[in-house]
Amino acid sequence: MERISWNQYFMAQSHLLALRSTCERLMVGATIVRDKRIIAGGYNGSVSGTVHCIDEGCYVIDGHCVRTVHAEINALLQCAKFGVATDGAEIYVTHFPCLQCCKSLIQSGVRKVYYAEDYKNHPYAVELFRDAGVQVEKVQLVQVGVDVQMQEKRRYVDQLLEKLENSVDGQDLASIKSEAERLFRTK
Ligand SMILES: [Zn+2]
Ligand SMILES: [Zn+2]
Repeated sequence: MERISWNQYFMAQSHLLALRSTCERLMVGATIVRDKRIIAGGYNGSVSGTVHCIDEGCYVIDGHCVRTVHAEINALLQCAKFGVATDGAEIYVTHFPCLQCCKSLIQSGVRKVYYAEDYKNHPYAVELFRDAGVQVEKVQLVQVGVDVQMQEKRRYVDQLLEKLENSVDGQDLASIKSEAERLFRTK
């Protein structure tokens, strides 16, 4: 069993958080990390105690839902609320940050942004990150969710592959094996 990488672990956390989003226009999750420890997390949702887009519909102005606080900002605000330093931190976000979030991340001292999916990547955000020396790296989640039967499945597939050894020709077997490897990949 291969050990899950830090990048996959933190990105999985952000995808899990995204499932808590209350605006269906885009479900985003963000995890702030310092020294390989999660210090905060957020998802896009309305202000605490107010109505949710999923219940009342979005409040759209100029094509944007103005009801929600973005995931990245929510994670930063959680740090502000509880007095946790963000200087030198890293953030894992499910989608490329919007311009407002980009500026807030730079301003709060975040030094590295990992994102899973491109999303209307604003050229000015790209430029601001670059000029601020904030590293930006795309890390897609390959191991989606937590599969509690993963080891069991792996063992079963290995057994099947072993049985195939003598009945399938070399090239076919190699491609079957590499497909199995891809499916169980954890990096
Ligand atoms: Zn909305
Ligand atoms: Zn944003």
